[in-house]
Amino acid sequence: MTERIYNFSAGPAALPLPVLEQAQQDLISLGDTGIGVLEHSHRSKAFLAVYEQAEGLCREIASVPDNYKVLFLQGGASTQFFMIPMNLLSKDQTADYLVTGSWSKKAVKEAKLFGNVNIACNSEDKNFSYIPSEVALSEQPAYVHFTSNNTIYGTEFASEPEVPAGVPLVCDASSDIFSRPIDISKYGIVYAGAQKNLGPSGMAVVIIRDDLIEQGPTDIPTMMQYRTHSEAGSMFNTPPTFGIYVLGRVLQWLKDQGGLAAMGQKNQAKAGKLYDYLDQSQLFKPTAAKQDRSLMNVTFVTGDADLDAKFIAQATAAGLDGLKGHRSVGGMRASIYNAFPEAGIDKLLSMMNEFEQEHAS
Ligand SMILES: *Cc1c(COP(=O)(O)O)cnc(C)c1O
Repeated sequence: MTERIYNFSAGPAALPLPVLEQAQQDLISLGDTGIGVLEHSHRSKAFLAVYEQAEGLCREIASVPDNYKVLFLQGGASTQFFMIPMNLLSKDQTADYLVTGSWSKKAVKEAKLFGNVNIACNSEDKNFSYIPSEVALSEQPAYVHFTSNNTIYGTEFASEPEVPAGVPLVCDASSDIFSRPIDISKYGIVYAGAQKNLGPSGMAVVIIRDDLIEQGPTDIPTMMQYRTHSEAGSMFNTPPTFGIYVLGRVLQWLKDQGGLAAMGQKNQAKAGKLYDYLDQSQLFKPTAAKQDRSLMNVTFVTGDADLDAKFIAQATAAGLDGLKGHRSVGGMRASIYNAFPEAGIDKLLSMMNEFEQEHAS
């Protein structure tokens, strides 16, 4: 087998090796069933056990309260961009959106198809390099939507934005879900595309409060109603079985690592090493405002596009893949989700150090 390298990809992203090894076996035969996980009916006893384990671990790890459902839906996070307003926003209502990056903007575009949108804050004036401290909410928003971690720009909310009592807080947590402890009771909906911190692409994990499920209209397509999936335990149609399987294995791995509190500490330590280096570097500069730095996506530049390209090429040659920044920021981005090993960060740091010495002016 080819040796595995360090994968700094923003998503799909690195998964824990023990999970991949287990999946390799379960592809041929799930447990002792003699049938691979991809080949099992979603109604089979063996798969139902997989489903129940994934759902149960999700509830356990994040202490999901009883009045919330955990749904496994298809279409990634982007489908939630329209499914949420389709269910929660009517023509005469306003939803508030905190715009902190291009994923937030995409969510806004979809919401406008269903009702009014109030942009409660926007950090585009500085290319989304910070999280605005001032948020101007509308009078009675149907909900308040924010993006907890801005994958492209390397910024992250340190804590949830404040919302008035009774207003549901809705969060796109695609790139930092389960990277640290989360108090689900503060939210109406938390959703995430699975491919950054949880598993394969194509699936979204949606944690939604019961009253919001009930509130949605019944005259929209059946598949677009949260109640459909809630009532059917995410099995109204054939669910993304492999995604659910991998999610379950990843959550078991997360639990074995000590759960969300331990994971949060590890992520602090991992990102902290990189930021400490960047803060004293004469060559590499972090792009995100210090107080808003992401623990998941660390963005930095040299200030010289040719030098950035040279660094990325050398890093790639040394087995550090996926470090090229998103085109809207340029430079480098190290995506270091839960499963990314600290040894990969040490290797990146030693490369940066060498490169800096070589190019010291
Ligand atoms: C990756 C990402 C998305 C898009 O997820 P899809 O599953 O591809 O639709 C949405 N929001 C954020 C914050 C992301 O990082």
